[in-house]
Amino acid sequence: MSQIAGSNTQFKNSLDFARELDSKDGLRKYRERFLFPQHNGHDVIYFTGNSLGLQPKTTKDYIQQELNDWATFGVEGHFLAKNPWLSYHELLTDKMAKIVGAKPEETVMMNQLTVNLHLLMVSFYRPTKQRYKILCEAKAFPSDQYALQSQVKFHGYGIKDALIEVAPREGEYHIREEDIFTAIEKNKDSLALIMIGGVNYFTGQVFDMKAITEAGHKAGAIVGFDLAHAAGNLKLHLHDWNVDFAAWCSYKYLNSGPGSVAGAFVHEKHLKDTSRPMFAGWWGHDKKTRFLMDSTFVPMQTAERWQLSNAPVFSMAACRASIDIFDEVGMDALVEKSKSLVAYLEFIVNDINSQKNNCLQIITPKENRGCQLSIVAHGQGKKLYSSLIENGVIPDWREPNVIRCAAVPLYNSFEDLYRFGEVLKGLL
Ligand SMILES: *Cc1c(COP(=O)(O)O)cnc(C)c1O
Repeated sequence: MSQIAGSNTQFKNSLDFARELDSKDGLRKYRERFLFPQHNGHDVIYFTGNSLGLQPKTTKDYIQQELNDWATFGVEGHFLAKNPWLSYHELLTDKMAKIVGAKPEETVMMNQLTVNLHLLMVSFYRPTKQRYKILCEAKAFPSDQYALQSQVKFHGYGIKDALIEVAPREGEYHIREEDIFTAIEKNKDSLALIMIGGVNYFTGQVFDMKAITEAGHKAGAIVGFDLAHAAGNLKLHLHDWNVDFAAWCSYKYLNSGPGSVAGAFVHEKHLKDTSRPMFAGWWGHDKKTRFLMDSTFVPMQTAERWQLSNAPVFSMAACRASIDIFDEVGMDALVEKSKSLVAYLEFIVNDINSQKNNCLQIITPKENRGCQLSIVAHGQGKKLYSSLIENGVIPDWREPNVIRCAAVPLYNSFEDLYRFGEVLKGLL
């Protein structure tokens, strides 16, 4: 796909210009594949694909297929369904692996995100007297903080002592990567694990996962990432970056519906070694002998080893509907459009801002971002957010003062961004 807007494109804040960008957008037809909530008879301007992605129009059919097969076959659907439930999760593996830059054997869809983080930490956070610390980002998503704190406590360590939180410097919003590397170096003798969000949910800052993994390994630590805001948003290369493990949800950029099944990645280098402790269930047992119902656990040699239970077919059906679209488009094309979209969104916000006493501040770093911009609206945060909602724009609000807008390449248009600007101008 040719670039929609190059780095030297002169943007204009006009409907004609936005429509011209849309006309150059090779992905614009994908918008038609999604269901938009309505406001006064029109599609809302949906900026919350980073929270709950929109529903593909095909999701219903994918789920209906399984409902039909359940009605037709009952328990025999495990074998006789069009997509046999016994191996249903395997239908997602290859495509999801492509989305996160993993090998299929390193990838599994199972459980929920926080559950997966815990299961993976059971295996990959193995503290010793000498090495017991976890390095994370300050103000990580609350569920991640609770997961890390409870893991530390579970192993009998103190949170204050064992959790190293790298924070933005005084007066700054995002974390300087050099401060992460300094903290790794400083704790290199006691660091067991680095566990960071690939994209910070609050600021939209993207971390250099490759460099952090390298630095972590050099210090003798295991490195894992929470990819909730990265999967389906950025080009990831988990295998090549040598990341040890990762987990992500599928309901944000991956449009699989509320609470849908999550993903997990374990690097190939850990798959042969079955000596690592883990919590096991029958779906992690070798497929060939699973149904002999023997009491000895024979671990699978793939990431499926970490599966506990048989697959939640309905949420996996919803996930398939969406990742089939991702597979058709490919992350390269998505990321390319995403860059143009977010640049235009930034331009619109800055243009309106300059007309309105600069009361808005974009805190997402320009050089390290995906498709989300986090905006601090000094003095009028929550009121502005509520007014946007009343006017058919759906961003989201994160305490204490941030409005997040994700311009999602699968279904947001440049015209959306122009219209958002007009609403914003009217409200400020
Ligand atoms: C969305 C999100 C979660 C949500 O966790 P669930 O287990 O899916 O409820 C966790 N961590 C991060 C970083 C998130 O962005």
